[in-house]
Amino acid sequence: MAQRLVVIGAGMASGRMLEHLFDEAPGAYEVTLFNAEPRGNYNRIMLSPVLAGEKTYEEIVTHDDAWYEAQGVTCRFGEKVTAIDRAAKVVMGENGPVSYDKLVIATGSTPFIIPMPGHDLKGVIAYRDLEDTNAMIGAAARGGKAVVIGGGLLGLEAAAGLKMRGMDVTVVHIMGHLMERQLDPAAGALLRHALEDRGIEVLCEAQSEAILGEDGHVRALKLRDGRELPCEILVMAVGIRPNIALAQQAGLACGRGIQVDDALVTCDPDILALGECIEHDGHIFGLVAPLYDQAKVLAATLRGEAAAYVTREVSTKLKVTGCDLFSAGDFAEGPGREDIVFRDPGHGIYKRLILEGERLIGAVMYGDTIDSNWFFSLIKERADISAMRDTLIFGPGFQGGDTADPRVAVAALPRSAVGGDGLPQTQIATAAPGGFAQAFLRSAQR
Ligand SMILES: Cc1cc2nc3c(=O)[nH]c(=O)nc-3n(C[C@H](O)[C@H](O)[C@H](O)COP(=O)(O)OP(=O)(O)OC[C@H]3O[C@@H](n4cnc5c(N)ncnc54)[C@H](O)[C@@H]3O)c2cc1C
Repeated sequence: MAQRLVVIGAGMASGRMLEHLFDEAPGAYEVTLFNAEPRGNYNRIMLSPVLAGEKTYEEIVTHDDAWYEAQGVTCRFGEKVTAIDRAAKVVMGENGPVSYDKLVIATGSTPFIIPMPGHDLKGVIAYRDLEDTNAMIGAAARGGKAVVIGGGLLGLEAAAGLKMRGMDVTVVHIMGHLMERQLDPAAGALLRHALEDRGIEVLCEAQSEAILGEDGHVRALKLRDGRELPCEILVMAVGIRPNIALAQQAGLACGRGIQVDDALVTCDPDILALGECIEHDGHIFGLVAPLYDQAKVLAATLRGEAAAYVTREVSTKLKVTGCDLFSAGDFAEGPGREDIVFRDPGHGIYKRLILEGERLIGAVMYGDTIDSNWFFSLIKERADISAMRDTLIFGPGFQGGDTADPRVAVAALPRSAVGGDGLPQTQIATAAPGGFAQAFLRSAQR
């Protein structure tokens, strides 16, 4: 007889998990799926193209009513689970209880709202779901000014979307350069120029002090230096927190997220968890790739098979049309680390590879990201790159020693000058995709 499986949260992680489960163990579970949002699973990462007017909501739905019906899922959408009674093995939905044999918690994250004066005014929103996206689309239809607090991935996608819909947009970022968790300062500067070129104002090292209102609606953001930025809508995109309230109330072990073992089981053997709400081996999550790995493992655990989740490297791309950027791995400076840098300011291209010993451990690219998947594979596989080090920065097209091999150019030049930072470097003039460029191969240890 089928066991009763209750899933809390119809987001990206649980959607993928259910696909694995139904594919590999059809009929093993009778599933009840709760979702606080009044709809089933859609591709949340594609909300930015919806905001930018490049896609419609219908195009980003991943599981429609027909899919749930075909799988026999009882959908309780638009209904929040308010409590879990572990002793009775029952979850309390807003419209009534449901018993479970196994429970999966996949409640995702909650956007962090800075508790500054005025944060609860109308027109102050986060960027997490379709409601937020529609609120921005509605505000943009009325025109005027928007302020986005946060120069990370979400903030910049919100800013670009609002700009494309005709608003005057200012991004306020507390750090010295944009997307500082993914980009180094040089790539951050190129990104800033690209956004400014399309008319988005960017203020870095800017501290927000208060949100000012009129008749209960946002009117401006006040900065600590006294400046006031008038706005009709203010988007706060300053980070997320794992959504663990329900698990905490139920007495499950939680740190920053709901703590799970390698099989994604919580401290209660009948309760499993995955997605942005969990903490595994001290890590919490904010990108979708690791959640898809978790989905596979959790489905296997539910089928009674041994499986273990392992944290892997993640990469980031910004979904702003015309801004090609890629970042993966670790690009912080440190003892024993070296970098290889390629700059072509004229064409807005910047690439930086970070090496530790014979391995590539990080990569940051702006303007030309065509080889990003190849570099990402080298990072994930911890490949030994010593044999191709001299030409590594030029990508996979130069690893076969063909006629355009830049090693010819390297060999023709003397190991020369000492760079501005005191490090010996070889300067190569070479024809590169996209035009004439200069590359600096830095060979000294930092
Ligand atoms: C605009 C945007 C762009 C993004 N772009 C990228 C990108 O380019 N690349 C990338 O890797 N990642 C991106 N992300 C992050 C990615 O979307 C998340 O990592 C992913 O959606 C998390 O999946 P999840 O299933 O853990 O949580 P979610 O997808 O958030 O799903 C959780 C669901 O649980 C529901 N829920 C919560 N509490 C309850 C409750 N008590 N009862 C019932 N239901 C509940 C919520 O309503 C929600 O629907 C982006 C996110 C956003 C918002």
